[in-house]
Amino acid sequence: MKAAPDQIVWTSGATESINLAIKGAAAARRSVGRHIVTSCLEHSAALGACRHLASEGYEIKLLKPNRDGLVSPEAVRGSLREDTALISLMQVNNETGTITDVEAIGEIARERGIPFHVDAAQSLARLPVNVSKLNADFVSVSGHKMYGPKGIGALYIRSRSTFGIDPQIHGGDQEMGLRAGTLPTHQIVGMGKAAEILMGRRDQDLERARELEGFLLSKFAAIPRTSVNGGEPRVVGIANLWFACVESESLALAIRDEVAISSGSACTSARVEPSHVLLGLGLSEDEAHQSIRVSLGRFTSQGEVERAACRIEEAVGELRSLSDEWEDGGEMVLAGVGER
Ligand SMILES: *Cc1c(COP(=O)(O)O)cnc(C)c1O
Repeated sequence: MKAAPDQIVWTSGATESINLAIKGAAAARRSVGRHIVTSCLEHSAALGACRHLASEGYEIKLLKPNRDGLVSPEAVRGSLREDTALISLMQVNNETGTITDVEAIGEIARERGIPFHVDAAQSLARLPVNVSKLNADFVSVSGHKMYGPKGIGALYIRSRSTFGIDPQIHGGDQEMGLRAGTLPTHQIVGMGKAAEILMGRRDQDLERARELEGFLLSKFAAIPRTSVNGGEPRVVGIANLWFACVESESLALAIRDEVAISSGSACTSARVEPSHVLLGLGLSEDEAHQSIRVSLGRFTSQGEVERAACRIEEAVGELRSLSDEWEDGGEMVLAGVGER
């Protein structure tokens, strides 16, 4: 990511980095105001940190995506106020893979003198990231989202003299006083090694994932009433798919022997509530419950993708034939599901 060592604070993961950036920057900018701009598509770490700030009297502006499923620079510009303390947005959405134009949003933030935090947890494995080109003041990353160990992450801080952060964990003066606690050397080395391996083979990993994804999506394109949730641009290797009249829980059960699958985001799959990201994109609760996230990575093989495509196609057909809402011939009779 091309950061200097004194721009990095090691943390226990992107969740902690995001908390440190959002709460820490908000605290450091108390005197400016208590208005924070973010979006309804963010990871629960960012939404949770913002919810906490709301309970302390901050006003949180949750931007909605445009028709393309993206938080636009124009929407961000229109939401800024004199008392805006921070803008916080993700670059790559973990559920849909869509890419927010953080470079353009960062330019707006810089023009207006407002600090900008980017959740880049999903970015490193799937995009060439150069932090100095992101126009971000704070960037959160995670070890295990780039094939490294769990329990390690980092927060990049562009310039502490421009925009500072108040520490959220107090104690010793490790990490320039921003995060107390003994550093987990083995974790840091592990994340460093993962980054090195990633840099050496990301292009070839992505090229392979692009071929596998192309194959998978062309298989699904032949299934009626199926579509990809979220807009473009999208990274290679994350796709969120909607199958009309197919409960994702039932689909997961039907294919679980062949395919590793979870409905909703991995972090919230224990819950049966529909994904807040899919609802944020304008899907109904039913549609959100009929959606699955497919992820293809370095270790996904051609054979696995072929088996998964076959099995999903079969299971979708089986489940639809059992569904009251699906008439023979593939016609949808379910009211309320618009053209998608
Ligand atoms: C996984 C993820 C996180 C949380 O990262 P951890 O290192 O598991 O805490 C935050 N944001 C996004 C976009 C993620 O995908």
